[in-house]
Amino acid sequence: MQKYEPVIGLEVHAQMLTRSKAFCSCSTEFGAAPNHHTCPTCLGHPGSLPVLNENLLRYIIRMGLATNCKIRERSIFARKNYFYPDLPKGYQISQYETPICHAGFLEVELKDGTLKKIGITRIHMEEDAGKSIHDFGAETLVDLNRAGVPLIEIVSEPDMRSSDEAYAYLTAIKSIVTYLEICDGNMEEGSLRCDANVSVRLRGTEKFGQKTEVKNMNSFRNVQRALESEIERQIGLIERGEPVIHQTMLFDANKGITRPMRSKEDAHDYRYFPEPDILPVTVPPTYLDEVRRDIPELQRARRDRFVTEYKLPKYDAGVLTAEKPIADFFEEAVHELHNKSEDSIKSVSNYIMGDVMRLMTERKENILQLKLQPRHLSELVGLIQNKTISNKIAKDIFPELLGSPDSPKAIVEKRGLVQVTDMVALREAVRDVIAKSPGQLAQYKAGKVNLFGYFVGQAMKATQGKANPQMINDLIREALEQE
Ligand code: ADP
Ligand code: ZN
Ligand code: MG
Repeated sequence: MQKYEPVIGLEVHAQMLTRSKAFCSCSTEFGAAPNHHTCPTCLGHPGSLPVLNENLLRYIIRMGLATNCKIRERSIFARKNYFYPDLPKGYQISQYETPICHAGFLEVELKDGTLKKIGITRIHMEEDAGKSIHDFGAETLVDLNRAGVPLIEIVSEPDMRSSDEAYAYLTAIKSIVTYLEICDGNMEEGSLRCDANVSVRLRGTEKFGQKTEVKNMNSFRNVQRALESEIERQIGLIERGEPVIHQTMLFDANKGITRPMRSKEDAHDYRYFPEPDILPVTVPPTYLDEVRRDIPELQRARRDRFVTEYKLPKYDAGVLTAEKPIADFFEEAVHELHNKSEDSIKSVSNYIMGDVMRLMTERKENILQLKLQPRHLSELVGLIQNKTISNKIAKDIFPELLGSPDSPKAIVEKRGLVQVTDMVALREAVRDVIAKSPGQLAQYKAGKVNLFGYFVGQAMKATQGKANPQMINDLIREALEQE
């Protein structure tokens, strides 16, 4: 491995979150009955005419600007011709010689915290094909709901040098498309798809080796595994003096290996030519400015701001900003805090990183589906800070806040959970507990000091967990000393 260096370039398809298809008004909604979302245009009937969805244009320009690309003022569409049962037109509308975005770059953060610049060759618009369904006995059926769904293809320069870098690059792409709210970023469901091009060369040499293209990975982790196995395969071939053949490889996730699928088509096999049915796309500078103004702060910038503005540890800031809706939730909760002390802010952050995320995992819901109101979380934190309730009570009532119209204050009052800080009442409870445990008291006095915890536990129990724990501790220490 040390003798060789991998060279990797990725082609990522991202399905755009437009409501209608790229060139017709059919819905892009997932899960409809097969062939329900179709019309003469996306079925490729003669005489029907495609019209560009303006949101597709807007979304791809957002992506181009967020990845430092140049945006062409004028670009055209092209037909990519091939035959496949799920492609009724016999061609896909794509872009070829004039992709709308080109010559950009992305800075990705590697595991050790260093930044690496990865070139973006191009980003172009295209439409998806339909889907062949093979699990109906001997027959193959075709569902064309997906035909014409808008995609963008992001092609990187061959700038990555390890599967770790490829993983970091994909993570960055996902973060950008989800922050821009142009794609849901879900690789398992196919909203993000990645073809990985890889070659190896002797370390220290300039010239690239022959590449292969690996397909069929449904997670970032599998892209990484596929690359590792393909790199090893290519090194094996070279070591044995055999040639690497230009071909498409399929990744078998169960076996963890890549195997050849077909020899690779070249561009000329597709007979690209300019799409005669769609006008060239023009992007006036005013339009570009308008799209630029709409681009939100992206993940890394937001994480760094969380560290300076909210004094959060970098780790916490990274977790909170990994997904935009969670970062939005956090900022809204902080905004609603009455007392914006560092402690309260850290407490909001702890709740999100702890209970909120645990419940999201348990229920397989995102933060919006959890139906927790940010101001309810702030109020809960406020109640702990001003000692109205203990941490323990807060943890107990937290799940009740999900989907609840009642504020934490209302729940606490309704259930009589206000923390007992009344010295007289607490002292009485402590005296009671000690009086009821003569055996433990004797042992304690004989030197078994870890029984201290036992008395605390009993006193908390006697007050149904409502006692202020610090006060209970102090009172028990005081009482035991007097015994
Ligand atoms: P093709 O003609 O096979 O489509 P391209 O030159 O268009 O190849 O590149 C497709 C992808 O492959 C790009 O992401 C590019 O960075 C990557 N790539 C090109 N050459 C190599 C190579 N020798 N090794 C690894 N990746 C490469
Ligand atoms: Zn249609
Ligand atoms: Mg190519």
